[in-house]
Amino acid sequence: MTPTSPIDTMLMGTVITCDAERRVITDGAVAIAGGSILAVGKREELHLAYTAQRTIGGPRCTVMPGMIDCHSHLSQALVRSLIAHELPMIQRLYLPAEDAMSLNDVATSVRLCVSQLLRSGVTCVAETTATQSHEETILATLGEIGMRAIVARGSSDQSCHHESIYGQVSGTSSATLRSGEAERDLAHTAAFLDRYDPSGCSLIKGGVLASHLTGSSPHYVRLAAQLAEERGASFQVHVARDREEIEFCLAVLGARPLQVLADLGVLGPRFLAIHGILLTDVEARLLAESGGGLAHAPLECLNILNGVPPVARWRRAGVNVGLGCDNALNDGFEVMRATMIQQGALRAIPGYDPEHLPAEDILDMATSDAARAISWDHAIGSLEVGKQADAVVIDRDSPHLMSQQHPVVDLVRYGTRNEVRWVLVRGRVLVDDRELTTIDLDAVRSRAEEIAPRVAAVVSSRRYRSLSPSVNID
Ligand SMILES: [Zn+2]
Repeated sequence: MTPTSPIDTMLMGTVITCDAERRVITDGAVAIAGGSILAVGKREELHLAYTAQRTIGGPRCTVMPGMIDCHSHLSQALVRSLIAHELPMIQRLYLPAEDAMSLNDVATSVRLCVSQLLRSGVTCVAETTATQSHEETILATLGEIGMRAIVARGSSDQSCHHESIYGQVSGTSSATLRSGEAERDLAHTAAFLDRYDPSGCSLIKGGVLASHLTGSSPHYVRLAAQLAEERGASFQVHVARDREEIEFCLAVLGARPLQVLADLGVLGPRFLAIHGILLTDVEARLLAESGGGLAHAPLECLNILNGVPPVARWRRAGVNVGLGCDNALNDGFEVMRATMIQQGALRAIPGYDPEHLPAEDILDMATSDAARAISWDHAIGSLEVGKQADAVVIDRDSPHLMSQQHPVVDLVRYGTRNEVRWVLVRGRVLVDDRELTTIDLDAVRSRAEEIAPRVAAVVSSRRYRSLSPSVNID
């Protein structure tokens, strides 16, 4: 009899691999050693080959790749309810709230966000920090938790003036360059990439951000893209997020945002357009032809209120779409379901098209396509031999998941965060039988309860509407 090889962990259940063949293995298993996937196959066969220190899962479990949140701002966990029903809100509410937070507050916000993500089966987050002074705290806290993250950094080098529709009688939108700032900031980003290797061999990898065309001049964008190219890093830009940005681009740069970026020659397979809500089909085609990706945050569309991009149609046209939470609701399952409902309402219902966006496509957008969007698909996004062991084990004992008929449809349509029982990042168990292992949730709760009213007080006078709830007393 052949002796079995020792491994760290064996995951057992229906294995949804999200590999190129979209293999689903009933009564399957995943063998993990040293943080990597050693084997994926039938449970019986893997049991004959390996002896695991720990086995996780069972016959009524589903094993899936960890989901990837393609866009977030981890400092904003304690602001999210303050911006509801308020638009526009970034400059008026988000940024003053971030400014009012101490670095300890920021660390609590990161722990809270990551708790929400991990407990919903998300194992990797793409962070873009709006407030530069928060960067080091965010990185340190992510490291302490053991969360996988791509952190794209960058600042702005111009001030923009957006002329209102009333002011356009005599004025136009304009930008004022802060000379030398692009070079200064990109030197900082270069040093950052020395610390956080963009190749993705560590849990945190660096990326390059040119936040948006209103704040980053064409000069900055070109230099940032060049740095990303030299280092093989993901290059990310918020694109076509709202009408003000489109108007600014047309008025100041003479073309729509994606066209500007194409003309600057910065598109390519490592380019990630964040949001792209107001892209035209022509711009989407430019993105597809370049091999670039799109981070689509369906629930944030409800905060931005500028539209729901037809990502199912663009996906078929060749745009690689990854899903993001953007802190609107940090939950991989809710984001998949929001995609199903929004895209269904946009096209499947009016077109009487049941195959408009199948569950398999949505799951890919949360896993393998998302990994490609953040240029990390060589290591994560699917359960395949040689990849990092980022995995989620779902308990199907809940009534709404009983009687498995189609594992992927069941998961995407009916799964919730409540069934997420174990979560592994590079083989390390960060959620163990529903408990977070590296985050003290009681401490986060008491800190969050202290911070939340303080942040609310800072921004309440800036809101259009009162924060006090209307109370009906009989
Ligand atoms: Zn953003």
